[in-house]
Amino acid sequence: MYINGHWLTERSHFPVTNPASGEVIGEVPDCTAEDIEAAIAAASEALKSWKQTTAYERSGLLYRAWEIMLSRKQELAELMTREQGKPLKASLNEVQYGADFLLWFAEEAKRINGQTIPSARDNQRFITQKVPVGVVGAITPWNYPISMITRKLAPALAAGCTLVLKPAEHTPLCAKAMAEVFEEAGFPAGVINVITSRDPAPVGEAFCTDPRIRKLTFTGSTAVGKKLNAQAAAHMKRVSMELGGHAPAIVFPDADPVHAAKGLSLVKFLNTGQACISPNRIFVHRDHAEAFLAELTARVCRLKAGSGFEAGNSIGPLINEAALQKVEAQVQDALAKGATLYTGGQRLTDGELADGCFYAPTVLAGVTPEMKIYREETFGPVAPVVIYGDDDDVLAMANDTEYGLAAYVYSNDLSTAFKAFEGLEFGIIGINDINPTSAAAPFGGMKNSGLGREGAEEGIEEYLETKLGGFAL
Ligand code: NAD
Repeated sequence: MYINGHWLTERSHFPVTNPASGEVIGEVPDCTAEDIEAAIAAASEALKSWKQTTAYERSGLLYRAWEIMLSRKQELAELMTREQGKPLKASLNEVQYGADFLLWFAEEAKRINGQTIPSARDNQRFITQKVPVGVVGAITPWNYPISMITRKLAPALAAGCTLVLKPAEHTPLCAKAMAEVFEEAGFPAGVINVITSRDPAPVGEAFCTDPRIRKLTFTGSTAVGKKLNAQAAAHMKRVSMELGGHAPAIVFPDADPVHAAKGLSLVKFLNTGQACISPNRIFVHRDHAEAFLAELTARVCRLKAGSGFEAGNSIGPLINEAALQKVEAQVQDALAKGATLYTGGQRLTDGELADGCFYAPTVLAGVTPEMKIYREETFGPVAPVVIYGDDDDVLAMANDTEYGLAAYVYSNDLSTAFKAFEGLEFGIIGINDINPTSAAAPFGGMKNSGLGREGAEEGIEEYLETKLGGFAL
């Protein structure tokens, strides 16, 4: 743990394991109530001077952190593959994506502009100034253990906030490595504090109730997000909530089914399906069903599961046994209710796979609204295909979910694509595009997928208050 510029190790520890092998790869301190208090106190004290720094000073430190992060790209990616399991190439991409936020917000720090507003009275002037929210409590998930940290910390620091970060208990080593990057970049003591905890609840409670924390930023499940949001509301705290998803993907009759199958096979199995923007219902027009399923199945059959360090493996482990059981239960439920299995559908236990939590990349067709997989986030390597016809209102079917994070559309008709973009109730829509994400573009969801946006110019607003000055001359 890193509190007030010091590394704390004299605590009881909890182990960190490699989900591909079950091997213990390290241990981290389990924070006490005093540690939580010390971290919040340090961030609160550091805020006094940090909020007075110039945007250019904060920008310079973020820029330096960006340089250090990229110089350690390989090392950070290898750690991520060991701790989280994703293939090394995907880890390298994530470190790059994570670093992009440092550079983007190093630049945005210099664009925290206020306004002058005309008054109806000739002797009155209005100006606004943007000021940091204050101390931020940040909680991050394990599936993107580095980029979810920089996506929150970079805008908070750029805005002039100080913070306490609590990373997921499955991936604290990535968070520790990022704290080292920030330390080396020269951020003053107390500006960034990292606490690790086997039990996240007491930290969440402190973030929601302690009056010194002015803003909670959370990425994780909708269930936990709702709980924290309710707790924070009682204390009138600002919140950002990046929660679960259940992305639809629509293959329209005017799309190329082979091209669509190629794209969706890539985005669906990214991070073994453990992504909030992973397609969870793939709507394919019945004219394309055969061609689409043939291409998708052929591609999925070629995906290899195993250690992320072995070239050619693209399917890593699920994070733990509970995640594996959830996927298994959803697939069994779908099959019992009439879905057709094209490939996969079981745990992988051959050879060294037996030591990890591996599930075969799976294609299910004939998925219907009665099946659990149609409604619940899978967070695993399963592509559920729903066949629709001319009489179906496919946009209404796609919108029929409590979530509203990402959606995908395949169409070669501009008008169809535009109507889909306008009609879908989701925060991020990829039109013939499976990677609609960038540090420069707003990321976030509607409905039960959360509140607020990360990245882009919106990202820094989440950490700023607007102050109005009215001047009578
Ligand atoms: P999770 O909600 O179990 O855990 C996320 C974080 O919350 C972890 O740090 C965990 O320790 C912490 N946490 C858990 N219970 C808590 C409590 N009672 N109080 C305070 N903190 C608590 O989710 P997960 O399984 O780790 O992550 C996967 C989920 O995250 C999925 O639903 C996924 O869709 C979502 N996610 C969303 C985005 C996004 O940007 N919208 C990005 C990545 C992941």
